[in-house]
Amino acid sequence: MCKRLPNPRLAKIHRSYTVDEAARCFGVHRNTVRQWIKRGLPVCDDKRPTLVLGRDLASYLQVKRTINKRPCRPGQIYCVRCRAPRSPAGDMADYIASSATSGRLVGICPDCDALMNRRVSLANLLQVGGELVITMPQAHSRIGDTHHPFVNSDFK
Ligand SMILES: [Zn+2]
Repeated sequence: MCKRLPNPRLAKIHRSYTVDEAARCFGVHRNTVRQWIKRGLPVCDDKRPTLVLGRDLASYLQVKRTINKRPCRPGQIYCVRCRAPRSPAGDMADYIASSATSGRLVGICPDCDALMNRRVSLANLLQVGGELVITMPQAHSRIGDTHHPFVNSDFK
C-alpha cells in the first residue's frame, strides 16, 4: 500500500541538482521531483533550470518518510484521500466484522468526508478504538438464529 520512498541519504548535501539530476539520483520520474517542488521542496530562487539543493532534498525526503511511517494512534483511522491518520467525525466508528475474530473499523474523515477503514482484530478493538464510540451494526444478526429483534418491526 505504501510506496517506497527514495532514500534521503542518496542526496549529496553539498551539491545542487536540476530536476533531471534529482530524478536520476533517486531513480524516480522527473514529474515526481516536480511534485515534490509543488508540495514544498525548496528550490534556488529564480534560477533556470530549476535547481534544488541536495541539503533540501535530503531533509524534504526525510520528513516525507517520517510522515508516511506515522502510524495511526488509538482512535485514529488512516484516510486514504488525505493520506494521513484522522480521528473520525464525531469520534464515532462502526465495527464491521469480517470473521468471528476480526473486522474493520469504519469512520468518516472529518476533513474530506471519505469513508476510512482500519483493519482490527476483535481482541484489539478497544485498544485500537481508543476513545471512540464504537457501534456494531451487525451484532444483532450475529447473536443467534432464535433472536430476530428487527423481523417484527413491520407488525402493527
Ligand atoms: Zn480525509
